[in-house]
Amino acid sequence: MKRVNQEFLVRSLEQVSCPCCGGQLSVIGSRKRKYTNSEGNRIILRIRRLRCKVCRSIHHELPDILVPYKRHCSESIESVLDPEGTICVAADDSTIRRWREWFRRYVDHFTGCLESITARLGGKTAKKVTRSSMSGFQRAIDLVGNAPGWLARIVRPVTNTNNWIHTRFAFLS
Ligand SMILES: [Zn+2]
Repeated sequence: MKRVNQEFLVRSLEQVSCPCCGGQLSVIGSRKRKYTNSEGNRIILRIRRLRCKVCRSIHHELPDILVPYKRHCSESIESVLDPEGTICVAADDSTIRRWREWFRRYVDHFTGCLESITARLGGKTAKKVTRSSMSGFQRAIDLVGNAPGWLARIVRPVTNTNNWIHTRFAFLS
């Protein structure tokens, strides 16, 4: 067992509305969420539990460093998915293989969500045709840019629009 050495309270400055109905969210408590950072240390976060004032659904605030249902930080997963990733990640081979399979499986869903969000906001998605010849990773990068944090830039809008697909088996690692 690795030592749990830190606990952080997460409070987003960003005002997020209800992913189900767009209603206003109010804070009703918090819950602990553990993750492993790229150095292999276990970190405990206290994330806020929010309830929609309109439809009463419960949501948990997702910090940028996390991916829903993944135990490792976004930075580690991002580095593994990037063909030129440089961070040495403290995860075993089967975990790394699973992240790659997960991303390959859902990248079309992610890019589809991002394109529809962009279209809804009035942006253009004209490059769609040329993208078909690109790898999933390239298509995703094409949409969110390759600066560090690109995985979070995919995860956050997809989650906040209630389009996250819950892969329950991710718990079983
Ligand atoms: Zn709602």
